[in-house]
Amino acid sequence: MAGTVHIIGAGLAGLSAAIRLTSQGRAVAVHEATAFAGGRCRSYHDASVGMTIDNGNHLLLSGNHAAIDYLRSIGADHRLIGPKSAEFPFVDLSSNERWTLRFNDGPLPFWLFDPKRRVPGTRPLDYLPLARLLWAPAGKTVGDVIACKGALYDRLVEPLIVAALNIDAPIGAARLAGAIVRETLAVGGRACRPLIARDGLGATLIEPALALLQQRGTAVRFEHQLRGIRFSNGRAEALDFVGETITLGADDAVLLAVPPYAATSLIAGLEAPNEFRAIVNGHFRIEPPADLPPILGVLNSTVQWIFSFPGRVSITVSAGDRLIETPREELAKKLWDEVTRVTGLPAALPPWQIVRERRATFAATPAQDAKRPGAATQWRNLVLAGDWTDTGLPATVEGAIRSGNRAAEFIASS
Ligand SMILES: Cc1cc2nc3c(=O)[nH]c(=O)nc-3n(C[C@H](O)[C@H](O)[C@H](O)COP(=O)(O)OP(=O)(O)OC[C@H]3O[C@@H](n4cnc5c(N)ncnc54)[C@H](O)[C@@H]3O)c2cc1C
Repeated sequence: MAGTVHIIGAGLAGLSAAIRLTSQGRAVAVHEATAFAGGRCRSYHDASVGMTIDNGNHLLLSGNHAAIDYLRSIGADHRLIGPKSAEFPFVDLSSNERWTLRFNDGPLPFWLFDPKRRVPGTRPLDYLPLARLLWAPAGKTVGDVIACKGALYDRLVEPLIVAALNIDAPIGAARLAGAIVRETLAVGGRACRPLIARDGLGATLIEPALALLQQRGTAVRFEHQLRGIRFSNGRAEALDFVGETITLGADDAVLLAVPPYAATSLIAGLEAPNEFRAIVNGHFRIEPPADLPPILGVLNSTVQWIFSFPGRVSITVSAGDRLIETPREELAKKLWDEVTRVTGLPAALPPWQIVRERRATFAATPAQDAKRPGAATQWRNLVLAGDWTDTGLPATVEGAIRSGNRAAEFIASS
């Protein structure tokens, strides 16, 4: 009889592993340090805006197949919404030019040959060098592989890479940018439809998973922080929590799904990414104009993306480390000023909140990418998961869920 799998961390990696293992009938216990699940992908009630908001706007794409399968398995795939086809409206704040990228569904990129669908100021041949990213070796930066200038770079490649890798594009790992191109643009529009959790990350990705785990009799223990792991004879033999030690039976396993800085403090000598990048979000309580699309790319501005939700307009700045020290009110005013220029909303600052996640993701450079471990460890009953493990993807929802699935499969097959 298989023993209990102790999953440490109730972020998306831990939850997806828990869903996968319980669906195979495995006994699972989830231990979460904080009082809530979701980790870096969560909703909370915010007093400043007086509504439930997400810690950060999360964009998924229809090609994120592991995320969509996970949502299906928790009965929440209908909660991701997006346009029927792959459309990305943009506005350039310096010229006020507006355009919409419209990919066609199949892998043959007909959209490149239609000036109304491709990036303005580009020609079809400009897109060819992007193919170099597809085969980029580990160790190379985006800047090593493609020229980081020109209309295509400024208006498509840079915004895509900054959003997906959360790093200044030229220093990003080319292999990670290549994975994004391979799984989205190269597949065609059917993999590029933008999807958002309109009713919140919690209601979409987290709460349905917790409800399903509860139905399956799986306990999620909150405020149950793992402080140490005792090892002996090539296996983990006990888990030290605050005020409690769990001795592991011969068939018990541990699936560690915590961020890299927590994993390295629990496992001496573990090599893992140790540089991070911030993501800044601004949330404004105001009804968006009826014609504001769900997601709008903004160029030549601090704001990179504007998201429209019922009763709220939110903005995202990835690789936002330069904004960490800006006084909050000053930043809110600056961001709101840009939003009003794009949307025509009134200049008066509505109720607002700024959420700055300093360690939103590991820094997606080649050097940090090289530090990512796989799921297996030198201990036979301990596996790793998390967006920072070596998924071949940048730190994303899709990567976190794939890592959870992979770790669960590793345990199931061992
Ligand atoms: C602001 C922001 C915006 C983002 N936008 C996007 C986006 O648009 N698209 C996208 O795909 N991705 C986005 N991401 C990335 C995405 O949120 C993450 O990749 C994903 O949530 C990581 O999940 P995880 O389970 O690997 O880690 P985490 O979410 O960090 O989960 C780890 C969990 O472990 C717990 N833990 C830590 N130490 C212990 C311990 N000792 N004992 C017990 N529990 C412990 C933590 O409390 C946490 O709940 C964004 C991230 C942020 C912060």
